[in-house]
Amino acid sequence: MVLATPSAPGRLRHATGLELKIGGAESNVAIALSRLGISAGWVSALSSDEPGHLVLDRIRGEGVDTSRVRLLQEAPTGLYLRERVGKSTRVYYYREGSAASKMSIDGVDLEYFAQARYVHLTGITPALSGSCRTFTRALMQKLGGSPARISFDVNYRSKLWSAKEALRFTEEVLPMVDLLFVSAEEAQALWNHDGADLLQKLSEAGPREIVLKRGREGSLALVGGEPIEHPGFRVEEVDPIGAGDAFAAGYLAGMLWGLPPEERLRVANAMGAYSVMTLGDYEGLPDREELEEFLEGRESLGR
Ligand code: ATP
Repeated sequence: MVLATPSAPGRLRHATGLELKIGGAESNVAIALSRLGISAGWVSALSSDEPGHLVLDRIRGEGVDTSRVRLLQEAPTGLYLRERVGKSTRVYYYREGSAASKMSIDGVDLEYFAQARYVHLTGITPALSGSCRTFTRALMQKLGGSPARISFDVNYRSKLWSAKEALRFTEEVLPMVDLLFVSAEEAQALWNHDGADLLQKLSEAGPREIVLKRGREGSLALVGGEPIEHPGFRVEEVDPIGAGDAFAAGYLAGMLWGLPPEERLRVANAMGAYSVMTLGDYEGLPDREELEEFLEGRESLGR
């Protein structure tokens, strides 16, 4: 989506100017991976007009492959406005009927997906429309026999669908998911639960690996039935948005680098922490060297 946000905190009604950025969980993950030197592609639909090119150019400019993005003439690019008032962030979506909400499995390059080591999907796409719901489900089904593993972030958005609908969809697709991400807040909203016992219950439905994000507390994972925990990094939080996406990218990077589960959690926590201590949903994210400096507690001289 195009993201329009006032440069200073405060109510939108008083804003006299807006910064034009891009927003979207999946593009954040793809950009975060690309920064870390991992080959990543982002697949979606945009309008073929200027807003569409704004999104496309920025994602492509981050080194993400956008060759499978469709540019449509008949539907606009999704837009959202965001304001930060005190500690809370509010969003206003204009994405009904958007190009992305028209995504369908017809004409999708399945080979492209099948060649990926991980296909990362989120619960936001199925919340956009009935056709997006069918698309997400069908993509997972069609990739069933391929080497690509499915990573799924619950990413519950109460402005797009109810907790009941999100729960129904998530539970339906769980048997096709290899790696599941869920936050403590989402666990509470959907399953009225948090902690290790929920992970156990979810793992029985299929995912080999389940990761629970716990904000500044860090994270907990259930890998092959084994619970593993890692505390969060102590950092000053300047911008909480995007932590979950940075975390998912860190965990996926850890998988692709062949790190053991505890190290994967450490890298994911570091990415989440890096995200909250820098401004922007993805703008402040580290490259691999910066991530390593952070993990080793080294300060870069920057010159
Ligand atoms: P969001 O929806 O805001 O992007 P989320 O709700 O999906 O995030 P969180 O649990 O808030 O997920 O954050 C993801 C990860 O980022 C946490 O598990 C943790 O590793 C890291 N993190 C988040 N907030 C902080 C913080 N204040 N200090 C340190 N690390 C943090």
